[in-house]
Amino acid sequence: MSNTVFNKGDRPAAGPPQGGTAPSGGSEPREAGSVGAPILPGATLGVMGGGQLGRMFVHAAQQMGYSTAVLDADATSPAGLVSHHHIRTGYLDAEGLAALRDASAAITTEFENVPAAALATLAIDRPVSPAADAVAIAQDRALEKQHFQRCGVPCAPFAEIADEAALAAVPDDLLPGILKTACLGYDGKGQVRVATRAELQTAWATELKGARCVLEKMLPLAAECSVIVARGRDGAMVNFPLQRNLHRGGILAVTEVFEANLPPVLADAAVAAAKSVAEGLRYVGVLCVEFFVVQDAGGVASLVVNEIAPRPHNSGHYTLDACDQSQFDLQVRTMTGLPLVQPRQHSPSLMLNLLGDIWAAGTPKWAEVLALPGTHLHLYGKTDARPGRKMGHLTVTGPTPDAVRAVALQCAALLGIAPF
Ligand code: ATP
Ligand code: MG
Repeated sequence: MSNTVFNKGDRPAAGPPQGGTAPSGGSEPREAGSVGAPILPGATLGVMGGGQLGRMFVHAAQQMGYSTAVLDADATSPAGLVSHHHIRTGYLDAEGLAALRDASAAITTEFENVPAAALATLAIDRPVSPAADAVAIAQDRALEKQHFQRCGVPCAPFAEIADEAALAAVPDDLLPGILKTACLGYDGKGQVRVATRAELQTAWATELKGARCVLEKMLPLAAECSVIVARGRDGAMVNFPLQRNLHRGGILAVTEVFEANLPPVLADAAVAAAKSVAEGLRYVGVLCVEFFVVQDAGGVASLVVNEIAPRPHNSGHYTLDACDQSQFDLQVRTMTGLPLVQPRQHSPSLMLNLLGDIWAAGTPKWAEVLALPGTHLHLYGKTDARPGRKMGHLTVTGPTPDAVRAVALQCAALLGIAPF
Protein backbone atom coordinates (compact mmCIF):
# COMPACT_ATOMS: atom_id res chain seq x y z
CA MET A 1 0.00 0.00 0.00
CA SER A 2 1.29 3.50 -0.72
CA ASN A 3 0.45 5.69 2.24
CA THR A 4 0.65 9.40 2.97
CA VAL A 5 3.59 10.35 5.10
CA PHE A 6 3.80 13.36 7.37
CA ASN A 7 7.32 14.35 8.36
CA LYS A 8 8.14 17.09 10.81
CA GLY A 9 7.94 20.47 9.05
CA ASP A 10 5.26 19.30 6.59
CA ARG A 11 1.94 21.11 6.69
CA PRO A 12 -0.77 18.83 8.02
CA ALA A 13 -2.52 17.64 4.85
CA ALA A 14 -5.07 15.14 6.12
CA GLY A 15 -8.69 16.16 5.78
CA PRO A 16 -11.28 16.51 8.52
CA PRO A 17 -12.51 13.37 10.26
CA GLN A 18 -15.33 11.59 8.48
CA GLY A 19 -18.23 10.24 10.43
CA GLY A 20 -16.73 11.50 13.66
CA THR A 21 -17.17 14.40 15.96
CA ALA A 22 -16.01 17.84 14.85
CA PRO A 23 -13.15 19.41 16.79
CA SER A 24 -14.53 21.26 19.77
CA GLY A 25 -11.95 24.01 19.59
CA GLY A 26 -12.43 24.43 23.34
CA SER A 27 -9.93 23.67 26.04
CA GLU A 28 -11.97 21.16 28.07
CA PRO A 29 -10.76 17.59 27.55
CA ARG A 30 -13.39 15.49 25.84
CA GLU A 31 -14.90 12.87 28.07
CA ALA A 32 -13.76 9.63 26.40
CA GLY A 33 -16.32 7.87 28.54
CA SER A 34 -19.24 9.96 27.32
CA VAL A 35 -21.79 8.05 25.32
CA GLY A 36 -22.52 9.58 21.92
CA ALA A 37 -23.24 8.29 18.45
CA PRO A 38 -20.69 5.69 17.39
CA ILE A 39 -17.95 6.64 14.94
CA LEU A 40 -18.79 4.52 11.94
CA PRO A 41 -16.61 2.84 9.27
CA GLY A 42 -15.38 5.38 6.74
CA ALA A 43 -13.84 7.52 9.49
CA THR A 44 -10.12 7.59 10.22
CA LEU A 45 -8.84 6.09 13.46
CA GLY A 46 -5.53 7.22 14.93
CA VAL A 47 -3.02 5.28 17.00
CA MET A 48 -0.06 6.47 19.01
CA GLY A 49 2.82 4.08 18.36
CA GLY A 50 3.76 2.00 15.36
CA GLY A 51 4.80 -1.37 16.79
CA GLN A 52 3.26 -4.78 16.13
CA LEU A 53 0.26 -4.06 18.35
CA GLY A 54 -0.43 -0.97 16.27
CA ARG A 55 -0.04 -3.00 13.09
CA MET A 56 -2.62 -5.57 14.20
CA PHE A 57 -4.94 -2.73 15.29
CA VAL A 58 -4.55 -1.13 11.84
CA HIS A 59 -5.39 -4.44 10.15
CA ALA A 60 -8.54 -4.83 12.30
CA ALA A 61 -9.66 -1.23 11.69
CA GLN A 62 -9.08 -1.48 7.94
CA GLN A 63 -10.94 -4.77 7.76
CA MET A 64 -13.96 -2.96 9.22
CA GLY A 65 -13.70 -0.16 6.66
CA TYR A 66 -11.90 2.52 8.65
CA SER A 67 -8.86 4.43 7.45
CA THR A 68 -5.92 4.66 9.83
CA ALA A 69 -3.29 7.14 10.96
CA VAL A 70 -0.20 6.04 12.89
CA LEU A 71 2.12 8.37 14.79
CA ASP A 72 5.63 6.91 15.10
CA ALA A 73 8.98 8.50 14.29
CA ASP A 74 10.35 5.28 12.76
CA ALA A 75 9.96 5.24 8.95
CA THR A 76 9.90 1.42 9.02
CA SER A 77 7.59 0.91 12.00
CA PRO A 78 5.42 -2.21 11.61
CA ALA A 79 2.16 -0.23 11.82
CA GLY A 80 3.38 2.77 9.81
CA LEU A 81 4.16 0.43 6.91
CA VAL A 82 0.54 -0.70 6.58
CA SER A 83 -1.39 2.43 7.61
CA HIS A 84 -3.15 4.90 5.28
CA HIS A 85 -1.34 7.78 7.01
CA HIS A 86 1.99 7.70 8.80
CA ILE A 87 3.00 10.70 10.89
CA ARG A 88 6.73 10.42 11.48
CA THR A 89 7.38 12.50 14.57
CA GLY A 90 8.08 11.98 18.26
CA TYR A 91 5.19 11.41 20.67
CA LEU A 92 5.44 14.89 22.18
CA ASP A 93 5.92 16.78 18.92
CA ALA A 94 3.24 19.48 18.71
CA GLU A 95 3.03 19.40 14.90
CA GLY A 96 2.83 15.63 14.84
CA LEU A 97 0.10 15.54 17.49
CA ALA A 98 -1.84 18.21 15.56
CA ALA A 99 -1.54 16.17 12.36
CA LEU A 100 -2.79 13.05 14.15
CA ARG A 101 -5.67 14.99 15.69
CA ASP A 102 -6.64 16.53 12.34
CA ALA A 103 -6.57 13.16 10.59
CA SER A 104 -8.44 11.14 13.22
CA ALA A 105 -12.00 10.90 14.51
CA ALA A 106 -10.81 8.98 17.59
CA ILE A 107 -7.40 8.03 18.92
CA THR A 108 -5.96 5.08 20.83
CA THR A 109 -2.51 3.91 21.88
CA GLU A 110 -0.62 0.71 21.28
CA PHE A 111 2.39 1.50 23.41
CA GLU A 112 2.05 1.94 27.14
CA ASN A 113 4.96 4.33 27.47
CA VAL A 114 3.40 6.97 25.22
CA PRO A 115 3.63 10.09 27.41
CA ALA A 116 0.32 10.56 29.20
CA ALA A 117 0.68 14.29 28.45
CA ALA A 118 0.44 13.57 24.71
CA LEU A 119 -2.82 11.67 25.23
CA ALA A 120 -4.16 14.49 27.40
CA THR A 121 -3.36 17.02 24.64
CA LEU A 122 -5.15 14.94 22.02
CA ALA A 123 -8.13 14.48 24.33
CA ILE A 124 -8.87 18.21 24.18
CA ASP A 125 -10.33 17.73 20.71
CA ARG A 126 -10.89 14.03 20.17
CA PRO A 127 -12.12 10.99 22.08
CA VAL A 128 -8.96 9.27 23.33
CA SER A 129 -9.09 5.80 24.81
CA PRO A 130 -7.70 4.65 27.10
CA ALA A 131 -7.65 8.01 28.90
CA ALA A 132 -4.38 9.65 29.94
CA ASP A 133 -5.04 9.17 33.66
CA ALA A 134 -5.53 5.41 33.31
CA VAL A 135 -2.40 5.12 31.16
CA ALA A 136 -0.45 7.17 33.72
CA ILE A 137 -1.35 4.63 36.42
CA ALA A 138 -0.31 1.71 34.23
CA GLN A 139 3.00 3.47 33.51
CA ASP A 140 3.98 3.59 37.16
CA ARG A 141 4.33 0.36 39.15
CA ALA A 142 3.81 2.17 42.46
CA LEU A 143 0.57 3.88 41.34
CA GLU A 144 -0.55 0.61 39.74
CA LYS A 145 -0.14 -1.31 43.01
CA GLN A 146 -1.99 1.41 44.93
CA HIS A 147 -4.83 1.00 42.45
CA PHE A 148 -4.87 -2.79 42.99
CA GLN A 149 -5.07 -2.20 46.74
CA ARG A 150 -7.96 0.24 46.25
CA CYS A 151 -9.78 -2.42 44.21
CA GLY A 152 -9.17 -5.08 46.87
CA VAL A 153 -7.12 -7.23 44.49
CA PRO A 154 -4.01 -8.69 46.19
CA CYS A 155 -0.55 -8.01 44.72
CA ALA A 156 2.93 -9.17 45.79
CA PRO A 157 4.23 -7.55 48.99
CA PHE A 158 6.31 -4.54 47.94
CA ALA A 159 8.00 -1.33 49.01
CA GLU A 160 8.51 1.82 46.98
CA ILE A 161 12.11 3.03 46.89
CA ALA A 162 12.56 6.66 45.92
CA ASP A 163 15.62 7.54 47.98
CA GLU A 164 18.33 6.22 50.35
CA ALA A 165 16.03 6.50 53.36
CA ALA A 166 13.35 4.34 51.71
CA LEU A 167 16.05 1.85 50.72
CA ALA A 168 17.24 1.57 54.31
CA ALA A 169 13.66 1.14 55.56
CA VAL A 170 12.90 -1.88 53.32
CA PRO A 171 11.64 -4.73 55.53
CA ASP A 172 13.77 -7.89 55.57
CA ASP A 173 10.91 -10.12 54.55
CA LEU A 174 10.83 -8.59 51.02
CA LEU A 175 14.09 -10.42 50.33
CA PRO A 176 14.85 -12.26 48.15
CA GLY A 177 13.01 -9.93 45.83
CA ILE A 178 12.90 -8.30 42.42
CA LEU A 179 13.84 -4.66 42.15
CA LYS A 180 11.90 -3.04 39.29
CA THR A 181 12.07 0.52 37.98
CA ALA A 182 8.74 2.20 38.67
CA CYS A 183 8.50 3.42 35.08
CA LEU A 184 9.55 2.38 31.57
CA GLY A 185 10.19 -1.34 32.13
CA TYR A 186 9.08 -3.97 29.61
CA ASP A 187 9.94 -7.57 28.73
CA GLY A 188 11.84 -7.91 32.03
CA LYS A 189 14.02 -4.87 31.30
CA GLY A 190 14.70 -2.53 34.23
CA GLN A 191 14.58 -5.43 36.71
CA VAL A 192 17.22 -6.98 38.94
CA ARG A 193 16.81 -10.01 41.20
CA VAL A 194 18.32 -9.37 44.63
CA ALA A 195 18.84 -11.86 47.47
CA THR A 196 20.49 -9.72 50.16
CA ARG A 197 20.51 -6.11 51.38
CA ALA A 198 23.98 -5.66 49.90
CA GLU A 199 22.74 -6.80 46.47
CA LEU A 200 19.73 -4.54 46.80
CA GLN A 201 21.93 -1.55 47.61
CA THR A 202 24.26 -2.23 44.67
CA ALA A 203 21.47 -2.94 42.18
CA TRP A 204 19.60 0.27 43.07
CA ALA A 205 22.68 2.49 43.04
CA THR A 206 24.44 1.06 39.99
CA GLU A 207 22.28 -1.00 37.61
CA LEU A 208 19.11 1.04 38.16
CA LYS A 209 21.01 4.30 38.72
CA GLY A 210 19.03 5.43 41.74
CA ALA A 211 15.77 5.56 39.73
CA ARG A 212 12.47 5.37 41.63
CA CYS A 213 11.78 1.66 42.02
CA VAL A 214 9.60 -0.90 43.69
CA LEU A 215 11.04 -3.91 45.44
CA GLU A 216 8.71 -6.87 45.15
CA LYS A 217 9.00 -10.00 47.22
CA MET A 218 9.99 -12.94 45.02
CA LEU A 219 7.02 -15.29 44.99
CA PRO A 220 7.15 -19.02 44.22
CA LEU A 221 5.09 -19.06 41.04
CA ALA A 222 3.01 -22.15 40.31
CA ALA A 223 1.89 -20.56 37.02
CA GLU A 224 1.25 -17.24 35.30
CA CYS A 225 -1.89 -16.12 33.56
CA SER A 226 -3.68 -13.08 32.20
CA VAL A 227 -7.16 -11.86 31.38
CA ILE A 228 -8.08 -9.30 28.74
CA VAL A 229 -11.20 -7.23 29.23
CA ALA A 230 -12.76 -4.54 27.06
CA ARG A 231 -14.86 -1.78 28.58
CA GLY A 232 -16.99 0.54 26.48
CA ARG A 233 -17.84 4.20 26.90
CA ASP A 234 -21.16 3.15 28.43
CA GLY A 235 -19.44 0.97 31.04
CA ALA A 236 -20.36 -2.33 29.36
CA MET A 237 -17.64 -4.95 29.78
CA VAL A 238 -16.71 -8.16 27.99
CA ASN A 239 -13.75 -10.49 28.48
CA PHE A 240 -11.63 -13.12 26.82
CA PRO A 241 -10.96 -16.40 28.64
CA LEU A 242 -8.10 -16.96 31.08
CA GLN A 243 -4.77 -17.20 29.25
CA ARG A 244 -2.01 -19.34 30.71
CA ASN A 245 1.42 -17.83 30.06
CA LEU A 246 4.96 -19.14 30.14
CA HIS A 247 7.75 -16.57 30.35
CA ARG A 248 11.39 -17.24 29.53
CA GLY A 249 14.03 -14.72 30.54
CA GLY A 250 11.30 -12.23 31.49
CA ILE A 251 9.73 -12.40 27.98
CA LEU A 252 6.46 -14.10 27.14
CA ALA A 253 7.24 -17.34 25.28
CA VAL A 254 4.01 -19.38 25.17
CA THR A 255 0.30 -18.67 25.78
CA GLU A 256 -2.08 -21.59 26.05
CA VAL A 257 -5.84 -21.07 26.06
CA PHE A 258 -8.40 -23.78 26.49
CA GLU A 259 -11.06 -24.55 29.05
CA ALA A 260 -9.62 -25.73 32.38
CA ASN A 261 -6.04 -24.74 31.45
CA LEU A 262 -6.12 -23.64 35.10
CA PRO A 263 -8.73 -24.56 37.73
CA PRO A 264 -12.07 -22.91 36.84
CA VAL A 265 -12.28 -21.30 40.28
CA LEU A 266 -9.07 -19.39 39.49
CA ALA A 267 -10.37 -18.42 36.07
CA ASP A 268 -13.53 -16.97 37.61
CA ALA A 269 -11.53 -15.09 40.23
CA ALA A 270 -9.14 -13.69 37.59
CA VAL A 271 -11.96 -12.45 35.38
CA ALA A 272 -13.70 -10.84 38.37
CA ALA A 273 -10.45 -9.18 39.49
CA ALA A 274 -9.67 -7.91 35.97
CA LYS A 275 -13.14 -6.42 35.68
CA SER A 276 -12.86 -4.68 39.04
CA VAL A 277 -9.47 -3.22 38.06
CA ALA A 278 -11.00 -1.88 34.82
CA GLU A 279 -14.13 -0.62 36.57
CA GLY A 280 -12.05 1.14 39.22
CA LEU A 281 -10.27 3.11 36.49
CA ARG A 282 -13.53 3.86 34.64
CA TYR A 283 -11.47 2.47 31.84
CA VAL A 284 -12.44 2.73 28.18
CA GLY A 285 -10.59 0.38 25.86
CA VAL A 286 -8.83 -2.99 25.99
CA LEU A 287 -7.01 -3.81 29.22
CA CYS A 288 -4.82 -6.80 30.04
CA VAL A 289 -4.34 -7.84 33.66
CA GLU A 290 -1.43 -10.21 34.39
CA PHE A 291 -1.53 -12.54 37.38
CA PHE A 292 0.73 -14.92 39.25
CA VAL A 293 -0.66 -18.18 40.59
CA VAL A 294 0.90 -18.95 43.98
CA GLN A 295 0.43 -22.01 46.16
CA ASP A 296 0.31 -21.89 49.95
CA ALA A 297 1.91 -24.52 52.20
CA GLY A 298 -1.27 -26.59 52.02
CA GLY A 299 -1.13 -26.61 48.21
CA VAL A 300 -4.08 -24.22 47.80
CA ALA A 301 -3.62 -22.01 44.73
CA SER A 302 -4.52 -18.34 44.75
CA LEU A 303 -4.06 -15.33 42.49
CA VAL A 304 -1.80 -12.34 42.92
CA VAL A 305 -2.07 -9.52 40.40
CA ASN A 306 1.23 -8.60 38.73
CA GLU A 307 0.58 -5.65 36.43
CA ILE A 308 -1.75 -4.17 33.84
CA ALA A 309 -1.22 -3.20 30.22
CA PRO A 310 -3.54 -0.42 28.99
CA ARG A 311 -3.83 -1.89 25.50
CA PRO A 312 -4.09 -5.23 23.72
CA HIS A 313 -1.43 -7.64 24.96
CA ASN A 314 0.93 -10.23 23.57
CA SER A 315 -0.92 -12.93 25.54
CA GLY A 316 -4.08 -12.05 23.56
CA HIS A 317 -2.71 -12.53 20.05
CA TYR A 318 -4.34 -15.98 19.83
CA THR A 319 -7.70 -14.18 19.71
CA LEU A 320 -6.99 -13.31 16.05
CA ASP A 321 -7.26 -16.97 15.09
CA ALA A 322 -9.15 -18.70 17.91
CA CYS A 323 -11.99 -16.30 18.75
CA ASP A 324 -14.91 -14.82 16.85
CA GLN A 325 -13.59 -11.34 17.66
CA SER A 326 -9.98 -10.41 18.35
CA GLN A 327 -8.62 -8.11 21.00
CA PHE A 328 -7.90 -5.62 18.19
CA ASP A 329 -11.52 -5.76 16.99
CA LEU A 330 -12.53 -4.83 20.52
CA GLN A 331 -10.02 -1.97 20.56
CA VAL A 332 -11.78 -0.61 17.44
CA ARG A 333 -15.21 -1.09 19.01
CA THR A 334 -14.31 0.57 22.31
CA MET A 335 -12.68 3.62 20.74
CA THR A 336 -15.52 4.17 18.29
CA GLY A 337 -18.36 3.50 20.71
CA LEU A 338 -19.63 0.49 18.75
CA PRO A 339 -21.47 -2.18 20.76
CA LEU A 340 -19.46 -4.75 22.71
CA VAL A 341 -20.53 -8.35 22.36
CA GLN A 342 -19.03 -11.08 24.54
CA PRO A 343 -16.35 -12.80 22.39
CA ARG A 344 -16.39 -16.58 21.99
CA GLN A 345 -13.33 -18.78 21.65
CA HIS A 346 -14.09 -21.35 18.96
CA SER A 347 -10.90 -23.43 19.14
CA PRO A 348 -8.39 -24.41 21.79
CA SER A 349 -5.18 -22.60 20.96
CA LEU A 350 -1.54 -22.16 21.76
CA MET A 351 0.62 -19.21 20.74
CA LEU A 352 4.38 -19.28 20.36
CA ASN A 353 6.27 -15.99 20.29
CA LEU A 354 8.78 -15.83 17.46
CA LEU A 355 11.86 -14.00 18.75
CA GLY A 356 14.78 -12.88 16.62
CA ASP A 357 16.83 -15.78 18.02
CA ILE A 358 15.18 -18.26 15.68
CA TRP A 359 16.69 -16.50 12.66
CA ALA A 360 20.23 -17.25 13.92
CA ALA A 361 20.62 -20.19 11.53
CA GLY A 362 18.91 -18.47 8.57
CA THR A 363 15.28 -18.25 7.50
CA PRO A 364 13.09 -20.37 9.80
CA LYS A 365 11.36 -23.42 8.29
CA TRP A 366 8.09 -21.66 7.51
CA ALA A 367 6.97 -24.09 4.79
CA GLU A 368 7.38 -27.10 7.11
CA VAL A 369 5.55 -25.29 9.93
CA LEU A 370 2.71 -24.24 7.64
CA ALA A 371 2.34 -27.83 6.40
CA LEU A 372 1.05 -28.75 9.86
CA PRO A 373 -2.71 -28.44 10.57
CA GLY A 374 -4.05 -25.33 12.28
CA THR A 375 -0.92 -23.18 12.08
CA HIS A 376 -1.32 -19.41 11.63
CA LEU A 377 1.85 -17.39 11.01
CA HIS A 378 1.98 -13.69 11.88
CA LEU A 379 5.14 -11.73 11.06
CA TYR A 380 5.37 -8.05 11.93
CA GLY A 381 7.41 -6.75 8.98
CA LYS A 382 10.58 -6.21 11.02
CA THR A 383 13.79 -6.81 9.11
CA ASP A 384 16.43 -6.84 11.84
CA ALA A 385 16.13 -10.17 13.71
CA ARG A 386 17.96 -9.39 16.94
CA PRO A 387 17.96 -11.90 19.83
CA GLY A 388 15.00 -11.29 22.16
CA ARG A 389 13.21 -9.06 19.61
CA LYS A 390 9.57 -9.97 18.98
CA MET A 391 9.46 -10.61 15.21
CA GLY A 392 6.12 -12.38 15.04
CA HIS A 393 4.02 -15.11 16.58
CA LEU A 394 2.58 -18.44 15.55
CA THR A 395 -0.85 -19.54 16.70
CA VAL A 396 -1.92 -23.17 16.57
CA THR A 397 -5.62 -24.01 16.66
CA GLY A 398 -7.16 -27.46 16.62
CA PRO A 399 -10.01 -29.68 17.75
CA THR A 400 -8.64 -30.52 21.22
CA PRO A 401 -6.02 -29.14 23.61
CA ASP A 402 -3.93 -32.30 23.14
CA ALA A 403 -4.00 -32.00 19.34
CA VAL A 404 -3.01 -28.33 19.57
CA ARG A 405 -0.16 -29.05 21.96
CA ALA A 406 1.17 -31.88 19.76
CA VAL A 407 1.29 -29.64 16.66
CA ALA A 408 2.76 -26.74 18.66
CA LEU A 409 5.56 -28.97 19.96
CA GLN A 410 6.33 -30.03 16.38
CA CYS A 411 6.43 -26.37 15.35
CA ALA A 412 8.72 -25.53 18.25
CA ALA A 413 11.11 -28.32 17.25
CA LEU A 414 11.16 -27.12 13.63
CA LEU A 415 11.82 -23.55 14.74
CA GLY A 416 14.46 -24.32 17.37
CA ILE A 417 12.24 -23.22 20.29
CA ALA A 418 12.75 -25.23 23.49
CA PRO A 419 9.85 -27.56 24.35
CA PHE A 420 7.38 -26.45 27.03
P1 ATP B 1 6.09 -7.22 30.40
O1 ATP B 1 5.76 -5.77 30.37
O2 ATP B 1 6.73 -7.73 29.17
O3 ATP B 1 4.95 -8.08 30.86
P2 ATP B 1 7.74 -6.51 32.60
O4 ATP B 1 9.08 -6.06 32.19
O5 ATP B 1 6.72 -5.52 32.95
O6 ATP B 1 7.19 -7.46 31.53
P3 ATP B 1 7.02 -8.15 34.88
O7 ATP B 1 5.75 -8.61 34.29
O8 ATP B 1 6.99 -7.33 36.10
O9 ATP B 1 7.97 -7.46 33.80
O10 ATP B 1 7.96 -9.43 35.17
C1 ATP B 1 8.39 -10.28 34.12
C2 ATP B 1 8.38 -11.71 34.62
O11 ATP B 1 9.28 -11.85 35.76
C3 ATP B 1 7.04 -12.16 35.15
O12 ATP B 1 6.18 -12.55 34.11
C4 ATP B 1 7.46 -13.29 36.08
O13 ATP B 1 7.81 -14.45 35.33
C5 ATP B 1 8.74 -12.76 36.72
N1 ATP B 1 8.41 -12.02 37.97
C6 ATP B 1 8.12 -10.70 38.07
N2 ATP B 1 7.84 -10.36 39.35
C7 ATP B 1 7.93 -11.47 40.09
C8 ATP B 1 7.76 -11.77 41.49
N3 ATP B 1 7.41 -10.82 42.39
N4 ATP B 1 7.96 -13.05 41.90
C9 ATP B 1 8.31 -14.01 41.01
N5 ATP B 1 8.49 -13.79 39.67
C10 ATP B 1 8.30 -12.56 39.20
MG1 MG C 1 4.66 -8.45 32.67
